[in-house]
Amino acid sequence: MNSNELASQLEFLRDIGIDSIDAGPSVSGTVGAVYDRPGLRKDAEDLQAIRADIGDCRRCKLAPSRTHIVFGSGNPNADLVFVGEAPGYDEDQQGLPFVGRAGQLLTKIIESIDLKREDVYICNVLKCRPPDNRNPEPDEVAMCNPFLKRQLATIRPKIVCCLGTFAAQTVLQTGASISKLRGKFLDMDGMRVIATFHPAYLLRSPDKKREVWEDMKQIRAELFRLRS
Ligand code: URA
Repeated sequence: MNSNELASQLEFLRDIGIDSIDAGPSVSGTVGAVYDRPGLRKDAEDLQAIRADIGDCRRCKLAPSRTHIVFGSGNPNADLVFVGEAPGYDEDQQGLPFVGRAGQLLTKIIESIDLKREDVYICNVLKCRPPDNRNPEPDEVAMCNPFLKRQLATIRPKIVCCLGTFAAQTVLQTGASISKLRGKFLDMDGMRVIATFHPAYLLRSPDKKREVWEDMKQIRAELFRLRS
C-alpha cells in the first residue's frame, strides 16, 4: 500500500478519533483459492445477462427522467456486497454506483477494514435515480427488486451489507427501522446480512460514524471467520 492509499484508509478512522489502523484480522484481497474452482461461483458474464434483461428499462415511472441505468460495479466474485438505496445525481450522470460525496465516504469505509472498492461489489435497490433524490416508492422497489435478488443469487457473497433504511428493509423484507436493524447479522438465503447507516446520512450526522465503524469491525471479523 502506498502512502496516499494509507492516508485515505486512515481518513475515516481519523474522523472518529482513531489514529492508527485497528489491528483486526486481515481480510484484504478478494476471494480464497477454493472459489477459483470453475462452477463454484458465477462470473461477470452471468451479471451481464441480468444487465441485458434490464435492457433500456421502461418498467416503472423513473425511466423518463433517468440519464443512465446504474446496474452495479465491482468484483463479480466478491465475498462482500454493499447494497445502497438508489442512484443520486452523480451516479445517474456516470452510470456507476456511489461515485458522489456519499460514495467517496463509502470508499473510505471500505478501506477502513483494509479492503479496496475493487474487492467488493456495490449496487443499489433501484437502478434509476428518483427525481430530486426522493425516497424510492413501493411500486419502483417492487419492479427493481427482482434484479437485485438475481445479482445477489449470482454473486453469492458471504456477506451483504445494506446501507440505510431502504436497502435494509428491501433485502430483509421487513418494515423495521434502521436503528433496530443495524449491527446484527441475520441469515438469508445462505448469506449473512447486516445493515448499517447510509453514508449520505453520515455526511449529515457524522457522530454516527462510530456505529458504522463498529459494524465494519463485525463485518471484518465475520469475513475472516467465514474464510477460515
Ligand atoms: N446513494 C445510494 O444509495 N446509492 C448510490 O449509488 C449513491 C448514493
